[in-house]
Amino acid sequence: MDEDSLLGRISRGQRLSVGCGSARSSVGELRCTLGTTMPPLSYMKDKITVVEDVLQPFQCAGVTLLPSRIADQVASVKAYYMGLHPNDILRGFRARKGDWAPGKELGGAYSESGLCFGQWLSGFARLYKSTGDPQVGERALYLMREWAKTIDQDGYFGYTDRGGDNQYLFDKYVCGLVDIYEFMECAEALEVLARITGYMERKCFDGETTDRNHEWYTLPENLYRAYLLTGDKRYFDFAKRFEYTEYWDAFANEEDPFGILPPPEKREGFHAYSHVNTFSSAAMAYAATGERKYLDTVVNAYNWLKETQLYATGGYGPEENLVVPDGLPDSLIDIKRNHSDVDLRFHFETSCGSWAAFKMAKYLMRFTGQAHYGDWIERLMYNGVGALSPMNEYGMIQYGSNYSVFGAQKMRSTVWFCCQGSLLQNIGDYSSLIFFKDEENLYVNLFLPAKVHWKHSQGEVIVEQETSFPEESTVRLKIQCASSQYFGLRFRVPGWSNGVVQVQINGEAYSVDTVAGQWATLQRNWDTTSVVELQFDMSIRGEPLTSYLSPVAVLSGPVVLAKASVRSGHHGGIPVESALRYPADWLDIESEVRLNRFRQLHYDQELRPLYDIRRGEFYQLYHTRHGEESLCADSFEYSGDWKTNSFCRYTASANATCEIKFEGAAICLEGIRGEDGGMADIYIDSEHKDTMDQFAYTRARMPRYDQSSVPFRWSIDGLSMGEHTVRIVAKGQKGDRATGSIIRLSGAKVYKLRKY
Ligand SMILES: [Zn+2]
Repeated sequence: MDEDSLLGRISRGQRLSVGCGSARSSVGELRCTLGTTMPPLSYMKDKITVVEDVLQPFQCAGVTLLPSRIADQVASVKAYYMGLHPNDILRGFRARKGDWAPGKELGGAYSESGLCFGQWLSGFARLYKSTGDPQVGERALYLMREWAKTIDQDGYFGYTDRGGDNQYLFDKYVCGLVDIYEFMECAEALEVLARITGYMERKCFDGETTDRNHEWYTLPENLYRAYLLTGDKRYFDFAKRFEYTEYWDAFANEEDPFGILPPPEKREGFHAYSHVNTFSSAAMAYAATGERKYLDTVVNAYNWLKETQLYATGGYGPEENLVVPDGLPDSLIDIKRNHSDVDLRFHFETSCGSWAAFKMAKYLMRFTGQAHYGDWIERLMYNGVGALSPMNEYGMIQYGSNYSVFGAQKMRSTVWFCCQGSLLQNIGDYSSLIFFKDEENLYVNLFLPAKVHWKHSQGEVIVEQETSFPEESTVRLKIQCASSQYFGLRFRVPGWSNGVVQVQINGEAYSVDTVAGQWATLQRNWDTTSVVELQFDMSIRGEPLTSYLSPVAVLSGPVVLAKASVRSGHHGGIPVESALRYPADWLDIESEVRLNRFRQLHYDQELRPLYDIRRGEFYQLYHTRHGEESLCADSFEYSGDWKTNSFCRYTASANATCEIKFEGAAICLEGIRGEDGGMADIYIDSEHKDTMDQFAYTRARMPRYDQSSVPFRWSIDGLSMGEHTVRIVAKGQKGDRATGSIIRLSGAKVYKLRKY
């Protein structure tokens, strides 16, 4: 059965109007339904601003999504969640209180802890703000009020008798209440927030519980938001208590974060989603204090994630772990295809991971004004949460995405878990990721059909994006002003574009600086109506995994293409007939190319956007670079004092030398890092190229993905075709942190061709 129609059926069958006002009430009337506890909107007087935003988001308001695949996802997710019966959602809270509890248990993790409840309050509040749909707003308020009735005298707020009040769950409730306060201007949310915070304060300060437990390091974000929105110092003090100082400082000081882990026998690592989400806590610590070190943490963490953790999709966290140095390529081999077994095998916790990334990137754009953070948002919009297959009627979601070089599938798993909460938050927040503003400029971050209404110092402007990008290469921005106005229209020049963007204004070519990863500025006196046309180069290209030679993903613009069997009568929509740059060589695909279709020799396959792959279809996202040849360490020539074990050749002696002769344009040296790893000089054809350092902390060990063995990789590309010699000379020296000076070599990979 078609999944979309199934979603439609549920929403039609189960949708109901609950609550506190007429389904047709306007925003103003909705506020009135809040009753006597709702003070006038003067509550904003207590709002605190410590750090001025360089760029301001249109926080879920003033932006309308126009028809597109993204808007379709918003509509279908909205219908799905509005189709959930509030009695089912509230059943556990009411039963615990001993109240009448009609409805049925939703099941899964929700029945154990009410896991997504706070996230749903947040998602409905954001979705209400972005769509203006009063039914959505009523749902948020009804759920909050009915839940509030079940909160105990002492402030206990959980879904079940026990365990419903850990810091992980508390954070989700705080987020939901702060969002209802901020986006629905509902002061009642503050009363509830004060009650549950009082309960948690007593629990933490009185030592009834371990002070910090269960993803506590994501708490400061929403507590600092509560402080900034209300001026109430209690939230500042409570947030401060949960700062993740040793982890944040590692980034602020540009140190290796794996150094803060205990020894491997403690079996700890960095849980990926929460260790990215905590950077949003650092961002709000910056907003609340203005202390530079917090911003340094977030900026440096972003660079570190980009250089060491991110796949082409923007996803991260194989088996929910941040990866050790040079560990990323192995993750695409170690974690294989999901054969629909119960064991979760994936590379990215897709919905929650996208949510953490969207927030972090948006904070960075707000506080620095820089465009390149928008690249990450764009990748995830198309290849992360935007590429999820739909949920089923039992609340099962595609929890993770798999990128294995051996092929993968989109599979559903987990019933009513965290990702079912963040999905609603994500789609409620989409419209706040598209445009930004400052006093004099309107910024276009994402290229997708949407309309923005911008009020600035000179007047009001409406900009409408007309495009089916990324399935076409042209984006038209229709600008309407009541009278001619002077302002800047800025658009993000995507990192993937190499700075190549053709610009026309009202049909005439317009010369403007377009630097990849920066804003391009069209500053002029705008007539009452103008059309700006942007033309991108959407040629298919290969993109290696971060700094490695292989494997390689295939992209068109920001869209990652998957190799999959031909979907009859369907074309994924990416125009690949023009300027086919590399794939014929390195993908081993026959040169015959039809519209959006590659025919392979042995069976029909095509490249289709990952977002176009349906649940259960086999696909391959990463590909080994063409012409790869493996050399083992035994085939190298050694001089000096080298020893052998079953994994590698190793030495600690100064001037011990290893020579590798190879034919090819690129080579990747492979070894093993250690806390006793030392340094060596690398020469290519007698020319000194680099000094390698094989130190790494070897402490990351989690039950599902042991990374206590840390690989080493060093590579060079673009050599002349022909024979080359690499010479590695151990220095017998160690870096500051190392306990030894050992060099370990396990082999090399050689690539014959200069291109991918
Ligand atoms: Zn999740």
